[in-house]
Amino acid sequence: MASEQSFVIVGASLAGAKAAETLRSEGFEGRLVLIGEETERPYERPMLSKEYLRGDKPAEKLYVHEEGFYAEKDIKLLTGTRVASLDAGAHEITLQDGSRMPYSRLLLATGATPRRIPVPGAELAGVAYLRRMSDSDDLRAAIKAATRVVVIGAGWIGSEVAASARQLGAEVSVVAPEEVPLERVLGPLLGGVYRDLHAEHGVDLHLSTQVEAIVGNDVAQGVRTTDGDVIEGDLIVVGVGVSPRDELAQYAGLTLDNGIVVDEFLRTSAPDVFAAGDVASAWNPMYNRHIRMEHWANALNQGQTAARNMLGQGTAYAKLPYFYSDQFDLGMEYNGYASEWDRVVLRGDAAGREFLAFWLKDGRVLAGMNANIWDQGDGIKALLRVDAGIDVSRLADSSIPLADLMFGI
Ligand SMILES: Cc1cc2nc3c(=O)[nH]c(=O)nc-3n(C[C@H](O)[C@H](O)[C@H](O)COP(=O)(O)OP(=O)(O)OC[C@H]3O[C@@H](n4cnc5c(N)ncnc54)[C@H](O)[C@@H]3O)c2cc1C
Repeated sequence: MASEQSFVIVGASLAGAKAAETLRSEGFEGRLVLIGEETERPYERPMLSKEYLRGDKPAEKLYVHEEGFYAEKDIKLLTGTRVASLDAGAHEITLQDGSRMPYSRLLLATGATPRRIPVPGAELAGVAYLRRMSDSDDLRAAIKAATRVVVIGAGWIGSEVAASARQLGAEVSVVAPEEVPLERVLGPLLGGVYRDLHAEHGVDLHLSTQVEAIVGNDVAQGVRTTDGDVIEGDLIVVGVGVSPRDELAQYAGLTLDNGIVVDEFLRTSAPDVFAAGDVASAWNPMYNRHIRMEHWANALNQGQTAARNMLGQGTAYAKLPYFYSDQFDLGMEYNGYASEWDRVVLRGDAAGREFLAFWLKDGRVLAGMNANIWDQGDGIKALLRVDAGIDVSRLADSSIPLADLMFGI
């Protein structure tokens, strides 16, 4: 690759930082610019709802790289800098101050942003969202000062914030439309495990109900549900999902569909423009469809793959989706992808919260989760790669090693 090339990465978080690192480790010697609107150097977000929120981990542990890394690798890191527009035809971006920057290849790693809740009272003081390190700092202080925290939403962020707030000693209510927490991803059976976990730790759950309004005068005092209940609280944390930050791509006329559409090489519809991480809806050859993941491992791995493809290596992104979550004393990892299934199989002790769970369709294992069991990840991943039906009764039998299930298939 000629050294006069100029590669630009927009979005200085996990995907962007891993892409920059990979470009250098793969031998790219040209100009390399990493641009992010946050003032921090790239950091990882998972701890923002867990250890960092609870004050158990310092900020130093969150950063993707040591402070001197970017200078050492000759990566020009522009923090506190927003990219305002993209002209894909001219191979040029414009920064917020109006200055223009040409690129030979561009990576959009602009991530996602919390969805706002569209109800009356949403603008009151005391309504909080969580995405950035500074949000987590503010939230920690607000949780400590609050009489009662009301979390709107029982997805990953809402559930983790509720758990951390309880662990910080707060009174916590959760309000969500689903019958159980995490129902959309895990289904009713496994969501029930999380419902019981939260209930046992004193979280006041209001499920199967919608928030109609956040009540209060200047300051939030609670939420009113469609059941007509008012759940009092002076800190309202909204965790109702995120939207991809695809505005630059939209401006430039790139193909969008729930994020920036990319092929398995993470190429967008514009020449020399790539996308990775939370913002990218990537063609996954294993699942024969576009998938937009909002998970740490996806940002980490896609950043690296995008970098290789910016260098022309032709590396398809075909990683098994993976994510993890920690709530109270329940840690889990989830491998695979199941948007619909016809059966869930448990192996182990769900009540004791040490188990594996599998989501199946037509006998095939689509996704597997290990909860408080840490030595079965490889066995789960191997099952996910089996393109045939699995004997369900053997799958449920924890006396049979996972590896043995594949004999005879
Ligand atoms: C509180 C929290 C907890 C999480 N916990 C987990 C977990 O337990 N497990 C898990 O797998 N995942 C978790 N995630 C998800 C994970 O953090 C994300 O998937 C990951 O951060 C995505 O990385 P990214 O680099 O694609 O985007 P992001 O991290 O969203 O970063 C994108 C960056 O681009 C910047 N940007 C956007 N537009 C512009 C622009 N025009 N100009 C300049 N800069 C721009 C943004 O400011 C941001 O800094 C969690 C996320 C949050 C918020």
